[in-house]
Parts: sequence; structure tokens; C-alpha cells
Amino acid sequence: MKFDNLYDLFLGEIQDLYDAEHQIVEALPKMHEAATSSELQDAFQQHLKQSKMHIKRLENVFEILGESAEREPCEAMQGLIAEGDEIIEENEPSSVLDAALIAAAQRVEHYEIAGYGTVRTYAQILDYNDAVDILQQTLDEEGETNKLLTGLAMRVNPQAV
Ligand code: FE
Ligand code: FE
Repeated sequence: MKFDNLYDLFLGEIQDLYDAEHQIVEALPKMHEAATSSELQDAFQQHLKQSKMHIKRLENVFEILGESAEREPCEAMQGLIAEGDEIIEENEPSSVLDAALIAAAQRVEHYEIAGYGTVRTYAQILDYNDAVDILQQTLDEEGETNKLLTGLAMRVNPQAV
């Protein structure tokens, strides 16, 4: 991808996140199904709802920019999700699988935290203040989800020993 200015880069990053969120919405039901812990199942279920909202919020941002909502294939998310799929395929349901699912999910959240933090800051510099608020809401939810997963890991990991 070629960028001429920060606006181009901003738009490209939004398109990347828009694709990443669609991939996540497809992956979360599989992770939910693979999880043993009911708390972890609930966490995936809840984050599926949130991720659908993240897609809507990105569509609002496209609207604010006067651009059409387009997906730029996010290869990083394809890789993270492929690793998660592999874990699910190769393991029977157990606490160890739950621990591995949490590890995979936290990688996804960290990718999103990096992406949304970046676009939130670009929106500030470019003076799209409504977009700043929208992106900050999603950034906060990704951060909360990551913390929730850390809390779950503290209970699940010892069971997997
Ligand atoms: Fe998200
Ligand atoms: Fe997320």
C-alpha cells in the first residue's frame, strides 16, 4: 500500500481494522464452542456482541470521513486466527486448551489495542473529533476484554498444570 499523507494512512488502518473485526466475528463462535470453562465461554460470547458493535462503529467512522466502508485484508489477523484454529483442531477440550485459547485471544486483543490506539491518535491529529470518541470507546472495550482474559487465565492456568 502506498500512502501520500497521514489521512491516507489513517484510512488504510481503519480498513485493516474493519477486515480484522470481520475475521474476529467469524472466529469467536468457534472459540466459544471449543472452550470448556463456562466463564471463558461467556467471555467469548460477550466479546462477539462487542465485536459486532466495533464493526458498526467503524462504519460510523467511514461515514464521518465520507468514505465507503471497505475491507483491506488484514494478514496479521489471518495469522493469529489460523494459530487459534490449529490449537482447536489439535486438542481435545480441557483446561490446557482453555489456557491456549486465552493466550490466542489475548494476542488478538493486543493487536486491536495497538490498531485502535493508533487510529484514535491519528483522528486527534486530523481533527476528526467525533471519530476520536468512537474509536476511544472501542479501544476501552478491547482493553477491558484483555484484562478480563488475564483474570480468567489466573484461574484457568493453575488447573492446566
Ligand atoms: Fe474489536
Ligand atoms: Fe477485541
